[in-house]
Amino acid sequence: MHELLRNHIDGEWSEATSRKTVDNVNPADTRQTLGQVVKGGKEEATRAIEAAARAFPGWRRTPAPKRGQILEQAARLMTERKETIARALTAEEGKTLAESRGEVQKAINFLEFAAGEGRRLNGSTVPSELPRTFTYTVRAPLGVVGIVTPWNFPVCIPTWKIAPALVAGNTVIFKPATITPWTASLVTQCFVDAGLPKGVLNLVYGGGSEIGQAIVEHPEVRAISFTGSNEVGSKLYTDASRTLKKVQCEMGGKNPLIVLEDADLELAATATVQGAFGSTGQRCTATSRAIVVASAADRFVEQVVELTKKIRVGNGAHEGVDMGPSVDEGQFQTVLRYHEIGKSEGARCLVGGNRLSDGDLRYGHFSAPTVFDQVGPNSRLAQEEIFGPVLSVIRVKDWAEAIQVANGVAYGLTSSVFTRDVTRVMEYVDEIETGMLHVNSPTVGGEAQLPFGGMKATGVGQREMGQTAVDFYSEWKTVYVDYTGTKRDTKIY
Ligand code: NAP
Ligand code: MG
Repeated sequence: MHELLRNHIDGEWSEATSRKTVDNVNPADTRQTLGQVVKGGKEEATRAIEAAARAFPGWRRTPAPKRGQILEQAARLMTERKETIARALTAEEGKTLAESRGEVQKAINFLEFAAGEGRRLNGSTVPSELPRTFTYTVRAPLGVVGIVTPWNFPVCIPTWKIAPALVAGNTVIFKPATITPWTASLVTQCFVDAGLPKGVLNLVYGGGSEIGQAIVEHPEVRAISFTGSNEVGSKLYTDASRTLKKVQCEMGGKNPLIVLEDADLELAATATVQGAFGSTGQRCTATSRAIVVASAADRFVEQVVELTKKIRVGNGAHEGVDMGPSVDEGQFQTVLRYHEIGKSEGARCLVGGNRLSDGDLRYGHFSAPTVFDQVGPNSRLAQEEIFGPVLSVIRVKDWAEAIQVANGVAYGLTSSVFTRDVTRVMEYVDEIETGMLHVNSPTVGGEAQLPFGGMKATGVGQREMGQTAVDFYSEWKTVYVDYTGTKRDTKIY
């Protein structure tokens, strides 16, 4: 249970003028309200943006290694608070405690990495074509940046956006998803307690169409980093272009895992089940399509079904639970709707395909891990992002068809191939249209020091994480220093 969660604007934790609040509900047991969160509007968003704009000159002039040290301290605080944050995450989002601990650790890893970037904000020296002229590049921050995040990784996604924004010298307005406010507050507290000057990081709660829209429209906001749905992201991208903002959107996925005839089928089946049902399928990197060559399909499917049946579904806070609930009623209804869509499209439901309501499960948004076989590659089940524990198995005749089906969707976030054939592996790297790809391992995961992001409808803008993270949050100044002290006889074009 938490106290009333408040905005953090200009160094103060404050309530919204509207006095409206929203309940934070536990998706594993909707009888339990965890607490309330304030509901801000345009007024709070504007105050936060103005505070961030005032804080910008001081923060920009703070040496980058010093900015990095504050992130290092935030990493220490998050490490100390890891268990508290993980428990809050499980309570409001529903993932299991083991998954929550993993997510917090991922945020800590990224903070450690980003802290070091304070000492590596390098530009380059470049030879000039003119005599006695020194030419080089330096990174400059953008100004106020808006960060708009989803509920599915409410600790690590905000962290991997806020940390590079800050280390590069920007100030921030952070608008988290409405249904995961507690973790947003705990993450913000780690940064604030680490010693950020007031106004450098501002947290504002409220609906996407109010706070999000205010960020999109405000001329002082120079860039927006967004992770969420295609529907919201594409509108945000269009609207933000009116004030010429830089925009980065990470959106949906429909990630394939390809299994070839020579694959280690046990390994492939285990990876498929982990990727499809880990975090209740609510990962942007979840495996949602298993594309299997016909000769291996029966044996592969049999193992997938066997492993799926062993998954224990329940409240993620309880010992021994492997999979938690859908995050809210809307997401839950989407999952149940896709069960019906799959059945009506003629796919064979081998396991699951129903709601779970035995005992206390009836108070939560629980559905059975579901495997559909014989799914048509162009069916809705195979094309649309479900964001729940539903796996589609698509049978193909050979490698060429496997790649064609894998690429035959709008999205392109991540993928996997299972084979022992090095030629196929290299062809796969050449041909697959995903921003991240895995060989003989699940589609999920992403390490702090490596770029993260997708192709096609999944993403626009520069990659997050890794050394590429600061590219989005900075721009280049190109410097020409003439030390001849004389008039040039060279023509300047
Ligand atoms: P969402 O509904 O698009 O919401 C994302 C964020 O945008 C929330 O903070 C939301 O606020 C806000 N928002 C809503 N309307 C807005 C508007 N008009 N202007 C500005 N902001 C607005 O997404 P979600 O349901 O939270 O998250 C699930 C989606 O995220 C899935 O599609 C998933 O694939 C995607 N995702 C992608 C990645 C990736 O890296 N590619 C990673 C994780 C998740 P409210 O909460 O107040 O509505
Ligand atoms: Mg939503």
